[in-house]
Amino acid sequence: MVCHEQAIARPYATPLLPLMPCIRTLLIYLKVLSENALKYAENTDSPLPFFHLLERLKTTKRAGWQRFKIGDGESISDHMYRMSILTMMAPASISSKLDIARCCRMAVVHDMAEALVGDITPVDGISKEEKSRRETETMDYICTNLLGKFNGGLNGQDIRALWQEYEDSKTAESHFVHDIDKIELLVQMVEYERESKCERDLGEFQWVADVIKSEEVKAWAQQIIREREQLWSDAGKIAKPASAYKKS
Ligand code: ZN
Repeated sequence: MVCHEQAIARPYATPLLPLMPCIRTLLIYLKVLSENALKYAENTDSPLPFFHLLERLKTTKRAGWQRFKIGDGESISDHMYRMSILTMMAPASISSKLDIARCCRMAVVHDMAEALVGDITPVDGISKEEKSRRETETMDYICTNLLGKFNGGLNGQDIRALWQEYEDSKTAESHFVHDIDKIELLVQMVEYERESKCERDLGEFQWVADVIKSEEVKAWAQQIIREREQLWSDAGKIAKPASAYKKS
């Protein structure tokens, strides 16, 4: 378990005190695990424990917005739901080449591990490798401990494979779903700015438009950026471009 708080110097501390935040984090982690063990019966032939686990995706907020005090913002499943619908909006130039039903299913499971590990964002100080390790472990728990004995484990294996395909990002379908992940963020960014009448500046998220791969999805991103410029201009302000912000 990574604990970046350990790096903070505490001149007044006894040798054990710098470890306290880590111990506290460990205790919280163990508490979550033991609560889950009670809540979600493992190795049963019923999918019900898994159905209940999915509730956590409905109740866990996406973390990126919380820095901006959007406390009552979208949940992880809100984000995945809109993404799955957006994959169904693929223009013919994309849908003729890809398995859109697979993209739709990938979108709706791609952040499932966050049900237990939470939404770890780039500003959390947790390495990509550690994030990936925690999420992989969680998907193994969900797909094996909770779903391994249901229907011969087939449904669990299916979800596990879809999640891994998104993680590996090697297939054309996974590339499209990654692009859609970024579009969903951009749409939500403008919506939160609109809601605040441009009091809230979320422009630091615009950089994701530059890493979108497909031309068709890039065109959607450009439309969103233009929509944002219009929104800010209507509010009597100037929308700053992506280059004006530090990358988040
Ligand atoms: Zn996502």
